[in-house]
Amino acid sequence: MTNIKIDQIIRSKRKTMSIEITRDARLIVRAPKATSLGFIENFILKKRLWIQDKQKLVKEKHSQSQPKEFVNGKEFLYLGNTYRLCIVAENAPPLLLFDQEFCLLRAYLSEARQLFIGWYKQQAYEKIKERVDVYSNLFGLKYNKFSITDAQKRWGSCSAKDNLCFAWRLIMAPLQIIDYVVIHELAHIEEKNHSIRFWNKVKILIPNFKESKKWLKENGHLLVV
Ligand SMILES: [Zn+2]
Repeated sequence: MTNIKIDQIIRSKRKTMSIEITRDARLIVRAPKATSLGFIENFILKKRLWIQDKQKLVKEKHSQSQPKEFVNGKEFLYLGNTYRLCIVAENAPPLLLFDQEFCLLRAYLSEARQLFIGWYKQQAYEKIKERVDVYSNLFGLKYNKFSITDAQKRWGSCSAKDNLCFAWRLIMAPLQIIDYVVIHELAHIEEKNHSIRFWNKVKILIPNFKESKKWLKENGHLLVV
C-alpha cells in the first residue's frame, strides 16, 4: 500500500497509465481497463516523490491566491511593484488614494475590496488601452473595440470581430507582461488560433515572449486582491 491517497481512478480504452494533479491537489489516475488496483498502487509508489512535490506546489499556489485581508502594511501589486496599505482615520476624499502606498479611509474598510477593484479597473482601462494603441499603430493591426473584464482565467481575448478584452487583474503584472498579453491578442487579429504560424508571428513582434508566458504561468495566481 502507498501512503498517497488516490482520489479517483478512471479506467478506459487507453494503453498507458497517466497521473493528474488537479488545481485542488487531488490525484487522478487514468489506466487501461484491465489494470489491477495493485498495479496502480505500485505505479503510484514509484511516482510518489513527483506526486508529493506537485501536490505541495499546487497547495502553496492555492494558499497564495486567497483573497487578501485589508490590514495595515498588507502589500498590494501594481505594475509589478508592491505597495503597502495604510489605513487612515482622516475623513477626506478620495476613499482610496495611491501615492507610493495605498491609503484607505478606515470608515470604508468594509468596502475595501470593491474600492481596490474599482481602482485597478480604472488603471487597467487607461494603461492597457494606451499599450494596445501603441502596438496597434506600430504593427498596423487594427482592432475594433477595447474593454476590461472580470475574467478570472483568461488574461485577454480577441473575438472574431477583433474586439479585444483584457482582465483587470493584469494591471498588477509588470509592464513587460502586459505588453506580451497585448501583443498576443493583437496577433490574433490576423491569426485566430494558436497555430505555429500564430506563435511565429508573436515571436517576430515580441522576441522574448516565452519569458513572459512562463512568468504568467508561474505568477498569475499572485495577481489577486
Ligand atoms: Zn491566444
